[in-house]
Amino acid sequence: MTEYEAVIGLETHIQLNTNSKIFCSCKADSWNDPPNTNICPVCTGLPGVLPVLNRKVVEKAVLLAAAMHAEKIAPVSYMDRKNYFYPDLPKGYQISQYDCSIAKGGYLDVPMPDGEMRRVRIHKLHIEEDAGKTVRQRDRRWIDFNRCGVPLIEMVTEPDLRSADEAAQYVIRLRQLLRWIGVSEADMERGQLRCDGNVSIREKGSTVLNTKTEIKNVNSIENLRDAIAAEIARQIRTVEAGDSVKPWTLDWDDSTNTLRKMRSKETEADYHYFREPDLLPVVLEDAWREDILKDLPELPLDCRQRFMDTYDLPQYDAEILTEDRSRSEYYEKTAAAFGGDPKIVSNWMMNDVLRMLRDSGKSAGELKLSPEYLALIIRAVVDNQITSNTGKDLLEKVEESGRNPEEIIKADGLAQVSDDSALRPVVEALLAANPEQVEAYRGGKETLIGWFVGQVMRESRGKANPQLVREILEELLKE
Ligand code: ADP
Ligand code: ZN
Ligand code: MG
Repeated sequence: MTEYEAVIGLETHIQLNTNSKIFCSCKADSWNDPPNTNICPVCTGLPGVLPVLNRKVVEKAVLLAAAMHAEKIAPVSYMDRKNYFYPDLPKGYQISQYDCSIAKGGYLDVPMPDGEMRRVRIHKLHIEEDAGKTVRQRDRRWIDFNRCGVPLIEMVTEPDLRSADEAAQYVIRLRQLLRWIGVSEADMERGQLRCDGNVSIREKGSTVLNTKTEIKNVNSIENLRDAIAAEIARQIRTVEAGDSVKPWTLDWDDSTNTLRKMRSKETEADYHYFREPDLLPVVLEDAWREDILKDLPELPLDCRQRFMDTYDLPQYDAEILTEDRSRSEYYEKTAAAFGGDPKIVSNWMMNDVLRMLRDSGKSAGELKLSPEYLALIIRAVVDNQITSNTGKDLLEKVEESGRNPEEIIKADGLAQVSDDSALRPVVEALLAANPEQVEAYRGGKETLIGWFVGQVMRESRGKANPQLVREILEELLKE
């Protein structure tokens, strides 16, 4: 039996998170706006208007190109007209970039499920405007122009991915990167990150590129994975049946989890590209470019590696702590403020702070529990000033009130009781009140120690130092 491998390239459209659209001053994000309320003569293509390129679009494109390790960021690039007719494209053309785009080459390194790092090369990266939306409702089509002129980056990979899982991993890492460098909110459900999958199969070990199909309209990473897996299986069945794969465009229907043939593909000649006569070339002077690149942060995987090297964290911890930039900064600030073993800080974040983030939907930087306050709480627990349960309760109290935890410890009398002379009488009274349990313990049922400790903890409303309680108990029970 022939063994096949999949060959996959992804085409992504990334909605930039600028305030205004690419060629006019309409708001770029219309997610919450009623249809056709966020439009003007420029983005709806009325005669006599002229587009003006939004500088922020260039800046975000350059930042992304640099983060993708582009071989070249063009000092001069051009905008081109891509002509096609579609009801949601009021101008009859889309302003895009064709042969002289803002950046060339580059790659994204993606850690794969098997632990390997795969380098996915970038085939092209350019700026363009979005079209409107067509909404189908039974026998009607509604057109919403709000999205016309929203800035996009189209980024296309080389066919370097080899399975549905690898494709999903690429999108997961791309989404992380986009948010990390702050160029896009990259929410797939909102269409801020859109992804088409190009899929072909070949005999394993071969290097030919066979006919591919293109999957459109996947709006989540799970759907992308499912759609590609289904298409790989379909192509294998087709070839095994003696047929050949046709270059179809397929549409993923997520209500039925099936692929449907949409159309046979247009070729580039159909678009009649030519230079956009209403716009000047995009000139990126050295000074501007340097100014943009000043804002390029350390990239997520580099940050992950540094966390492993500097803080001696396991990869598992480093991965979670660098999932987003706000979290990674929060961790570093807390570790610095704490000053002790950074793994302890990681444990507190992974066990408790992450739960608070999930429950509240906040990013780490938005917590009232600041890194400084978290460090104070961890310090108080490590120094046995409070019990770890009190510490956990304190996290919530600080988050609710925004008060300094040291102040709360004092005001609410939360300090752990580690004073032998205070705890001993409590233990003595407990033993006196429970002669049967004492008898049983002395008769060999040593697991009862846990019950005794629990009673003292309850008595002290959680403030007794459990270690010391246990020591006193063991001493008195031996007698
Ligand atoms: P098209 O002419 O169809 O637009 P491109 O060469 O521009 O094709 O590539 C579009 C996408 O398809 C890219 O992501 C590319 O990596 C991918 N691709 C190209 N050839 C193949 C193939 N044989 N199998 C799978 N993907 C491919
Ligand atoms: Zn407009
Ligand atoms: Mg193409």
